[in-house]
Amino acid sequence: MDRQQEFVLRTIEERDVRFVRMWFTDVVGTLKSVALAPAEVEAAFEEGLGFDGSSIEGLSRVYESDMLLQPDPSTFQILPWRGQEEPTSRMFCDILTPDGEPSAADTRGVLKRTLEKAANMGFTCYTSPEIEFYLLKSKELGANGIPEPVDSESYFDHTPGGIVQDFRRRAVTMLEEVGISVEFSHHEAGPGQNEIDLRHADALQTADNIMTFRTVIKEVALAQGIYGTFMPKPFSDQPGSGMHTHFSLFEGDTNAFFEAGAEFQLSRTARHFIAGVLKHAPEFTLVTNQFVNSYKRLWGGDEAPSYVSWGHNNRSALVRVPLYKPNKMQSARIEYRGIDSATNPYLSYAVVLGAGLKGIENEYELSPAVTEDLQAMSSSERRAMGYHSLPSSLWDAINKTEDSEFMAEILGEQVFEQLLRNKRKDWSAYRAEVTPYELKNNLGIL
Ligand code: GLN
Ligand code: MG
Ligand code: MG
Ligand code: MG
Repeated sequence: MDRQQEFVLRTIEERDVRFVRMWFTDVVGTLKSVALAPAEVEAAFEEGLGFDGSSIEGLSRVYESDMLLQPDPSTFQILPWRGQEEPTSRMFCDILTPDGEPSAADTRGVLKRTLEKAANMGFTCYTSPEIEFYLLKSKELGANGIPEPVDSESYFDHTPGGIVQDFRRRAVTMLEEVGISVEFSHHEAGPGQNEIDLRHADALQTADNIMTFRTVIKEVALAQGIYGTFMPKPFSDQPGSGMHTHFSLFEGDTNAFFEAGAEFQLSRTARHFIAGVLKHAPEFTLVTNQFVNSYKRLWGGDEAPSYVSWGHNNRSALVRVPLYKPNKMQSARIEYRGIDSATNPYLSYAVVLGAGLKGIENEYELSPAVTEDLQAMSSSERRAMGYHSLPSSLWDAINKTEDSEFMAEILGEQVFEQLLRNKRKDWSAYRAEVTPYELKNNLGIL
């Protein structure tokens, strides 16, 4: 029993904790939970908690369904929305095989492996996400057959006494209570759309935080009688919900992306990193944008990226180098704008980081920064300038991932296969569906 485990057991005792939830994540990023009685926690630390993985999406094949959950004591938290009397707590878990080895099917494990690779190259990876989501009046559609947002405000709007302001205040307070630091929160461009930006943290901790964040948002919304959604594009004519993420690599205390006096203060390491991300972006988009609906966001305009490019303060670029802050001397970082809010964060961070590390290892050359608005250019102009597109549909993304050695390596054979199986199934079901669009255009139904 190590000190962190002892601390958890002591806290359970002192706070009179009633349930300890074991949290883990399936391949598409759905949070899974099993509640333990406090008396069982010590055994779970020592031997892991056995469960049947075969009914969890992407976890294991039926003939090897026995798995173990190994709780990570550093992630222990009391869950404030369950009340302070006999409280409920949670820990994130790693998934192990019956002989105690890390399971190749665990997506948290995929990120851990990629972070180990970074560590072997001398780097720690920090991330900070800008998470966008919509607040709707309810889960039901409105009279016009589309979801009903809670307000009709827009970017940075401040409405006195608005339900959304109250929502953000409660949500941010609750996030801080579970140890998640919030940097900014504001109304986004769409009606009912909000954004909350988390302070940078180690990439694994950020991914755990995102899983917690989604639960907090859903819980706070529920308590207010509204509904929160991370769906990438709930409205045809309003912006989608992205999860732009800032990445930086550190060597010890030194920001490895920073070089004083270089173009945009970017070191060679940062330039290689960006080049790696751009090279592999079309292959990993299946992970960062995993649903049929994700492609409606990517190709729907409204500042979502459709082309592979990078730029300084260019909001049509896929990778943006944010404004240099003279008073934050060494804070070089890059913003990857492709990811949407419905991704599995462990996998998304693993593929972006993995691609960047490839760029560093192989010293990929970075093309010049884009200064034009790519969305405004014609396709022949873009082609002439060598800009490639991101996949235009889930099917396109599946095809690009299938052929990718990079993806098989980063995800590992098992997650790679499970992901493709799940996504092909999704695409076939969608293709079989006759949509309102077709009824309108081919049958004349309005
Ligand atoms: N909602 C936009 C997206 O989908 C981003 C808007 C912004 O934050 N500039 O990526
Ligand atoms: Mg933002
Ligand atoms: Mg935003
Ligand atoms: Mg941003």
